[in-house]
Amino acid sequence: MTTTTRTPGSVSWEPWTLAELNKANTEKASKGTPRNVAFIENLKLDPELQPKKYEIAGTHPQSKILITDAKILDSTGREPYRGDVLIQGERIVAVGEVPNKTELEKDPGVRVFKAKGRTLMSGLGDGHTHFTWNGGDLNKLGDLGVEEHVLLTVKSAQCFLDSGYTMCFGAASAKDRLDAVVRDAINAGDVPGPRYLANAREIAKPDGDLVPGITAFAEGAEGMRSVVRHNIENIGVDNVKLSMSGEDICEARSAQDCFFTDEETAAAVDEAHKHKKRVCAHARARDSVTMCIRHGVDVIFHASYVDDEGMDMLEKTKEKQFIVPAINWLWGTAFDAEAFGYSHEAAEKAGYKRELEVAVAGLREMHRRGIVVLPGGDYGFAWTPHGTYARDLEHFVKLLDFTPHEAIIAATAGVAALLMRGNELGKIQPGYYADCILVDGDPLEDITVLQDHSKLDVILINGRVHKAGRKEYIMDSSGSLSVGLDSTKHLEVDFPQVNPAMQKAY
Ligand SMILES: [Zn+2]
Repeated sequence: MTTTTRTPGSVSWEPWTLAELNKANTEKASKGTPRNVAFIENLKLDPELQPKKYEIAGTHPQSKILITDAKILDSTGREPYRGDVLIQGERIVAVGEVPNKTELEKDPGVRVFKAKGRTLMSGLGDGHTHFTWNGGDLNKLGDLGVEEHVLLTVKSAQCFLDSGYTMCFGAASAKDRLDAVVRDAINAGDVPGPRYLANAREIAKPDGDLVPGITAFAEGAEGMRSVVRHNIENIGVDNVKLSMSGEDICEARSAQDCFFTDEETAAAVDEAHKHKKRVCAHARARDSVTMCIRHGVDVIFHASYVDDEGMDMLEKTKEKQFIVPAINWLWGTAFDAEAFGYSHEAAEKAGYKRELEVAVAGLREMHRRGIVVLPGGDYGFAWTPHGTYARDLEHFVKLLDFTPHEAIIAATAGVAALLMRGNELGKIQPGYYADCILVDGDPLEDITVLQDHSKLDVILINGRVHKAGRKEYIMDSSGSLSVGLDSTKHLEVDFPQVNPAMQKAY
């Protein structure tokens, strides 16, 4: 096996220490235009690689939802402002001032949410998603029965939506077809879940895998091309995943080692791009990051050990690439894994403390240089459990020098751009899909509010109500509703989900 050197390259940005990271401030001023609005707008992605356009079925085209007096956080960079929003069918049709608002409020055919100053924002997005991870020992996933694994995958898809996530980018599936099958079930309206771009098993070199039971092995340029073609033609993936570097928890596979050759990376990317699919890569090692850039990998995960040379290269190609660090994995492994039997000492000895310190420094430098860095946290391991996805936004603020507004822009408009649908997802704007959350709190004041599911009062996807919590129905002492609906009329009766026939041609 070819493994490139682990000699560290020179790094000119300030390293951080774990003690400093622990002290890092979560309170940041939210004033001023978020810098990454321009970074995202400047992206020039290859239109040839536009993913297949998926629609979620089931929304009645005549259904109407009116949200009154919301604090609208629209993800354009504008400071939040008070206003109303009208949704018809799948899309937002009016924002700020809604024509005929008074009549609409009285119309029994319109579902009304009284926001009373609560924050209305786009649903969140995750740039590194594993629906198929079990929240425990990944080594057992290879042996998990397909039937149980389907249920697990459906459950975590729903968990993303329950957590306010309406967009996810698949970063590898433990069995080849799970991601694609659940994506199609979500789009058919059969199971609840976010908009999703599916992956298959990650591709690794023999002896270069992270978890063998959930890996597809390939070697040499032709070997790479053949697995990539299989994933695209037989599985129906949207993304192809290469596992190029190690991971220190595997002990024998250092995060500073790169297992791929230039020829293999070039072949994998070329084959995927020829089929109009994008490539994402697990790339912690310095050499794996520069290899990704040289060969046009579209989405680089982790990028922990990038050096000066790699940073300059990334800056030059910043209009074409996304960095998704999955920083919560490093944070969790350094700080939270002890409860699961992976001690601080083991994590430190394996190099996670050092990796977190250098990764944070590098990612801060990327944000400073206008490189698009997106949340997406490798959730679904024991100490990065499903449902805690919005921790990533806190890390972006606390560790990576994002303002809360910038963290939200990254998770909304940024992930929409990653899905190559920035023109219709990720913002509260007329014409955009009605994927939004009504939050009881101000995430610009306290970004951690997004981690509290009890504060996600209303979750909408594709113009349909996924969740409307009890606060939307509760009467106060005077007999009127304290917040939310002014009647308990339930519009689902009038505009039921438009279901396709039960019979399917499986
Ligand atoms: Zn991952």
